[in-house]
Amino acid sequence: MDLWYTEKHSENVGITLKATRSLFSGKSEFQQLDILETVEYGRMMLLDGLVMVTERDEFVYHDMITHPALFTHPAPKKVLVIGGGDGGTIREIMKHPGVELAVLCEIDGLVIEKSIELLPSMACEIDGRNPRVKLHVDDGIAYIREHRDQFDVILVDSTDPIGPAVGLFEEDFYRLVFAALKEDGIMVAQSESPFYHAEIQKSMYGNLRQVFPIVEMYQAFIPTYPSGLWSFAFASKKYHPVRDFDRARAKNRGFYTKYYNEELHLGAFMLPTFARENIAG
Ligand code: SAM
Repeated sequence: MDLWYTEKHSENVGITLKATRSLFSGKSEFQQLDILETVEYGRMMLLDGLVMVTERDEFVYHDMITHPALFTHPAPKKVLVIGGGDGGTIREIMKHPGVELAVLCEIDGLVIEKSIELLPSMACEIDGRNPRVKLHVDDGIAYIREHRDQFDVILVDSTDPIGPAVGLFEEDFYRLVFAALKEDGIMVAQSESPFYHAEIQKSMYGNLRQVFPIVEMYQAFIPTYPSGLWSFAFASKKYHPVRDFDRARAKNRGFYTKYYNEELHLGAFMLPTFARENIAG
């Protein structure tokens, strides 16, 4: 019998992947967690039925939530990830030798536990062996309230604005992020699909503009996410992601990135008209 998994992107459209078996299925206090073995995309994590990561295309998302900020900031040393329990973002941060400490604040310990067990290619730096990585199992909103003027970069690697992640898209949270960043800090947050989520983007970028002087959107191609066109919000106290970008530094980065490169860094901020219209001031 064939096993097919479908995630609906709207009432009448979705993505379907052929799977061979379920590796884990369980419910934490926050959400349903499933990890499936798929035929073409390797292992796939679902939270409340939504695709979070697959082994085949996770490199796009984790490159693009991480490297634009870490190559725009001239010398990032202390980085916070809110969410990101699969570990892929921490893995990419660790490629930057100048980063002295990466803190992961994930609300659901089951996501971390099962990622270490079943998604080792992503969770390779959150298994407790790396002294430059610190794990917290906590609500990112509570955590950030207790930390002021501490981080060079904060990456919000969250689920969609439902359940525990709702507050991570609100102005109050962005004010807490602003306070937790150093005077030249940068925040990046995944900002949904320009094709399906115009209303969410309008609200999210409006909230960001109330708090940060520099707010830009950039895009990436992620086949298993709704429409494949995904976006990230770049919010910065001082450095602009294009004007202040040091291409030579990114070009001479000294490590391989399968999606990100110094040309794409600039191209990603060039948006389709409809995406620009979603976030017009
Ligand atoms: N790449 C995925 C995406 O774009 O949807 C995100 C993957 S990562 C697994 C998302 C994580 O955010 C989940 O593990 C979830 O538990 C976590 N999360 C949601 N709300 C949170 C909160 N308030 N504080 C900390 N982590 C949170």
